[in-house]
Amino acid sequence: MWRRCLPRNFRFSRKASSIGSEPIRQSPWTAPRSFSTDSVGRSSYTIVDHTYDAVVIGAGGAGLRAAIGLSEHGFNTACITKLFPTRSHTVAAQGGINAALGNMSEDDWRWHMYDTVKGSDWLGDQDSIQYMCREAPKAVIELENYGLPFSRTEDGKIYQRAFGGQSLDFGKGGQAYRCACAADRTGHALLHTLYGQAMKHNTQFFVEYFALDLLMDSKGTCQGVIALNMEDGTLHRFRAANTILATGGYGRAYFSATSAHTCTGDGNAMVARAGLPLEDLEFVQFHPTGIYGAGCLITEGSRGEGGILRNSEGERFMERYAPTAKDLASRDVVSRSMTMEIREGRGVGPLKDHIYLHLNHLPPDVLKERLPGISETAAIFSGVDVTKEPIPVLPTVHYNMGGIPTNYHGEVVHIKGDDPDAVVPGLMAAGEAACASVHGANRLGANSLLDIVVFGRACANRVAEICKPGEKQKPLEKDAGEKTIAWLDKLRNSDGSLPTSKIRLNMQRVMQNNAAVFRTQETLEEGCQLIDKAWESFHDVKIHDRSLIWLNSDLIETIELENLLINACITMHSAEARKESRGAHAREDFTKRDDEKWLKHTLGYWENGKVKLTYRPVHMNTLDDEVESFPPKARAYMIDGDRKLQMLT
Ligand SMILES: Cc1cc2nc3c(=O)[nH]c(=O)nc-3n(C[C@H](O)[C@H](O)[C@H](O)COP(=O)(O)OP(=O)(O)OC[C@H]3O[C@@H](n4cnc5c(N)ncnc54)[C@H](O)[C@@H]3O)c2cc1C
Repeated sequence: MWRRCLPRNFRFSRKASSIGSEPIRQSPWTAPRSFSTDSVGRSSYTIVDHTYDAVVIGAGGAGLRAAIGLSEHGFNTACITKLFPTRSHTVAAQGGINAALGNMSEDDWRWHMYDTVKGSDWLGDQDSIQYMCREAPKAVIELENYGLPFSRTEDGKIYQRAFGGQSLDFGKGGQAYRCACAADRTGHALLHTLYGQAMKHNTQFFVEYFALDLLMDSKGTCQGVIALNMEDGTLHRFRAANTILATGGYGRAYFSATSAHTCTGDGNAMVARAGLPLEDLEFVQFHPTGIYGAGCLITEGSRGEGGILRNSEGERFMERYAPTAKDLASRDVVSRSMTMEIREGRGVGPLKDHIYLHLNHLPPDVLKERLPGISETAAIFSGVDVTKEPIPVLPTVHYNMGGIPTNYHGEVVHIKGDDPDAVVPGLMAAGEAACASVHGANRLGANSLLDIVVFGRACANRVAEICKPGEKQKPLEKDAGEKTIAWLDKLRNSDGSLPTSKIRLNMQRVMQNNAAVFRTQETLEEGCQLIDKAWESFHDVKIHDRSLIWLNSDLIETIELENLLINACITMHSAEARKESRGAHAREDFTKRDDEKWLKHTLGYWENGKVKLTYRPVHMNTLDDEVESFPPKARAYMIDGDRKLQMLT
């Protein structure tokens, strides 16, 4: 059993403390470097204490938008990030951000809400979805005002492209053009714009600081976070009245993923270690078009601009699975259709194990203007000239619908007594780490960039509603962070027989094989056994580099592996338990959605290395009478007179 207890000969040295809300910072150059382990194995760590009104963990789109809002409201805000902000995974987003701006045709946020509820296969919380879709046009205009260089229409409006799962008039009006973009580099433009804004405000950045654990008091209030400065090995306790987790997804639990190697679900694992639940982790989105072999993403925008998928017989097979939406059916449907084609022997390539995405029939100037980034990516990672040849693609893990459960303000919730929506005081979450839950069982493309800015901002607004800048804070409890330091110390000195990379590869293979696009009781039961074993094997990990100075990647990757394993275990067990098919969770043995038994959110707890599951109700209510809630119905094709079938599944 992996126990997190204080080593016998452990010394704890404090080098700085805090006064009021003023942070005390030590220059990394002057910090004493007393981290060596002596001959009897004693370690000593330098602790630096800080106090802020708010601490944001993560500087992707969600973290930056929260930090900007907090600073605007006058809160003394720290933003801790393990990466330089503009290296966060948000930078890789290509396709765009949805908002019913109505620049290409009439549009309405209620239609966007309908599509999102339907896309979520009714597992999304409708109050949160209403909030997000209603705020969307404002959020995009705000980004424009911040300076985001959106692509434009002839008459100078923000250009909006077609994206999967987007319709007009509650699914009856045909394809919506709702996805605002900056060519196919929208995330890049968005992240740099937000970073510029954060610089303009007074956010204090702690770059290349790795957050280890939440600082929870004995009453269950979050008092901040403890982080490791990866440059000089000092430990930092950030005391804050408000802690906002914006640490992104955990795509790297899988072998083939479009997400960056840094997407390791650290915030999720911190929450799980604090005894709080993670919601709906079984819903993992496979993007239909990851480049075969490399996993890099080819945006859905490429199909939005007219790209089509073909099998080994040259057939445009999506016409059979989704007669009107065709290649722009929602992601779960396209991924499953591709998998079926491959299984039935119509895959392409020598092993018949992938599919072709054709863009070569599109005018070269459209490719150059609208899809320059993916043209380059295809050339580099598959050696393909998109104007002449098809791109080899395969469904690839792309997004985690589940995460840290929150309400639509961004406050983290858990079950307390009879209350399934009890707020955890002092703790919030936004972005891919969070589960608000606007994506339910399946996220629609271009709804995540929207989610991160809308809920990043919502967190800041909520803090402004419930707190005042400079409010006095309770002192940290005496032993705050000690368990974490003991754990770090133990991990740093791990001397087992398995290298981190071996355990990681094993975990990634198990997830890829056993929690795949299609699932059965057999694969999932086996998956539970194998992933539990992978967790057990982590107790036998070996770290070669014990230093704490300048980015000990061996240590950091091992901490990230532990975090990934926690996410992976909860994902597998949650998937095994859910005996229905819904959104991205497609079971071959339970092929139907079962609203009677399973219209509920899974909550997965992590207790002494074991997963414990419980459930909470889905919010079927809306916020007010501006829109009525959408009762569950079959997520089927709809007939609309002359336009024939609509594209919503
Ligand atoms: C290739 C790709 C393309 C995509 N395209 C689109 C698209 O076109 N439209 C769309 O809507 N969505 C898209 N998505 C999804 C979307 O981009 C992401 O869900 C979203 O950007 C996540 O933002 P985030 O702020 O939550 O997290 P991230 O951008 O992943 O940022 C996480 C932050 O947390 C920090 N962090 C993590 N752990 C720690 C720790 N332990 N200590 C300190 N800091 C930590 C990191 O340093 C980083 O700053 C795409 C995703 C991928 C992978």
